Amino acid sequence: MKLNRRNFLAVTAGAAATLSAPTVWGAAHGKPKVVVIGGGAGGATAARYIAGDSDGAIDVTLVEPTRTYYTCFFSNLYIGGFRDFASIGHSYGKLASDYGVNVVHDWAIGVDRDAKTVSLAGGATLSYDVLVVSPGIDFVDGSVPGWDISAQNKMPHSWKAGSQTQLLRAQIDAMPEGGVYAMVAPPNPYRCPPGPYERISMVAHVLKQTNPTAKILIADPKEKFSKQGLFEEGWQNHFTGMIDRIGPDFGGNNVSVNPDAMELSIDGVVEKVDVCNVIPAQKAGRIAEMAGLTNDSGFCPIVPASMQSQMDENVYVLGDATIAGDMPKSGFSANSQAKVASNAIRGALTGSRVFPAKYANTCWSLITTDDGIKVGASYEPTEEKIASTGSFVSQTGEDAALRKATYEESIGWYAGITADMFG
Ligand SMILES: Cc1cc2nc3c(=O)[nH]c(=O)nc-3n(C[C@H](O)[C@H](O)[C@H](O)COP(=O)(O)OP(=O)(O)OC[C@H]3O[C@@H](n4cnc5c(N)ncnc54)[C@H](O)[C@@H]3O)c2cc1C
Repeated sequence: MKLNRRNFLAVTAGAAATLSAPTVWGAAHGKPKVVVIGGGAGGATAARYIAGDSDGAIDVTLVEPTRTYYTCFFSNLYIGGFRDFASIGHSYGKLASDYGVNVVHDWAIGVDRDAKTVSLAGGATLSYDVLVVSPGIDFVDGSVPGWDISAQNKMPHSWKAGSQTQLLRAQIDAMPEGGVYAMVAPPNPYRCPPGPYERISMVAHVLKQTNPTAKILIADPKEKFSKQGLFEEGWQNHFTGMIDRIGPDFGGNNVSVNPDAMELSIDGVVEKVDVCNVIPAQKAGRIAEMAGLTNDSGFCPIVPASMQSQMDENVYVLGDATIAGDMPKSGFSANSQAKVASNAIRGALTGSRVFPAKYANTCWSLITTDDGIKVGASYEPTEEKIASTGSFVSQTGEDAALRKATYEESIGWYAGITADMFG
């Protein structure tokens, strides 16, 4: 099906659901309270759907430090010059005015799961009956020797969108003629499996126009990556000889950096580079760990039918912070999971009807002008995990008209998901 904004909303609204039986909130208790930590793809969607669909029957508070959320999705297109920066920024005004969400711009710094409270950096404490946690990712300390967060201005990660994204684009523009752009790609599992390779495509697209003798070097710890054949075909066709990927068989898994000297060492061989995009290994956003919701993997196990935490039935975890079975860490996934959880939470708190869980995902990537590719699947819960029930992927050798249509589909999806998140 060709996705546009209207049918994206229809498809994903029907996907909201869970199997667990609702336990209706006791009337004596007063209005039930839901606190949502994190106003991204998972949290903003959940806040909107719980507040909007319960028509004032549930008090919803969203805790999010930033006043403007810059989407990681389409941030690569900003780097490639296909979007302006303002177009990927979104504010929370409508969630407050149109949906009645109490939007608190602050950091959650602690969760007391016995007392059912969340403490905020500003000093306030919020009580909840149900807590939704969707804090995205944080980086694993020491995963790229030589790099830590204090080096992010010299060697940006740009894996959380905002100033980091603008910095990376500025560094690409300032590269000397014939210079070297390097990326340290992350190990699995990480946010947005095709994201590093879409980024490489967008960087190559810019450099081909502004600095055609420049080189791109990828140090990659993974044997293979998402949509690999499609990306490699595109790189060969559009950016011949520009991109060199060093996988684990040639030391791409044995990397360190020296940000002061702008050096990247791959298996002991030191390269001088002009830009170094370090995307470290990832784990659930720190607050999930502090709340005791993670396991040894660094991510949060969930109940596949509802997105409830396996650690606490009063807590739901969404998006990149979770172990979501076959679902990748994507904005589409987080949005889809948020609708399942919202349906389950409303059922538990107000007795509204709860539908069987269905999830969906599609990840589009742009290689160069009008050359869009995609991969996606639908999912249902089993006892063990969220399992894929059917999938699709673009093919190599597709004609230009189909690739253009795929790109246009992604533009419709972006408009749809951001309207779905922020109202
Ligand atoms: C370059 C790139 C390209 C991408 N492209 C796509 C794409 O094309 N399609 C797609 O579907 N996905 C894409 N993604 C992935 C997508 O951005 C994430 O999977 C998605 O944002 C996950 O949603 P989330 O709610 O888990 O986390 P986020 O959207 O990151 O939201 C987390 C929010 O929690 C807040 N937060 C964190 N800690 C706290 C705290 N202690 N207290 C309060 N708030 C807190 C943060 O400020 C943040 O706003 C891309 C990612 C990258 C990096």
